[in-house]
Amino acid sequence: MTVHEGACHCGTVRFEVDFDIAELTTCDCSICVKRNAVMAKVPEDALRVIAGEEALTLYEWNTRRAKHYFCSRCGIYVFHRKRAAPDHFGVNIFCLEGFDIASVPVRATEGANMTLVDAPYGSDALGNPDQT
Ligand SMILES: [Zn+2]
Repeated sequence: MTVHEGACHCGTVRFEVDFDIAELTTCDCSICVKRNAVMAKVPEDALRVIAGEEALTLYEWNTRRAKHYFCSRCGIYVFHRKRAAPDHFGVNIFCLEGFDIASVPVRATEGANMTLVDAPYGSDALGNPDQT
């Protein structure tokens, strides 16, 4: 098992990911587009915050099921608890030290198709894969 060291930009938030990352994802939902995220999906047990937990700030929107964490000092998105798989985190791959992004395939997911709370129709996009 590979241990990846991660940190935000200012170094206040530090974390480790014990997981062999075999795939990365991008997402076209409104928040992932704006934060320009490339993410690795890891089980919740694989992520350990080792410093700066008190500096994390939480952003929630829409269904509030996804929990988006940012460093309150430098503003960098570090990871989020996923909406479609709440027992997994999406990790900002650019926060991992020395991770070779070219070594794993990147898959584009379609989060823009997921239901919005204020959608004009009442359907729920349950069963939609991995997005945010
Ligand atoms: Zn920071």
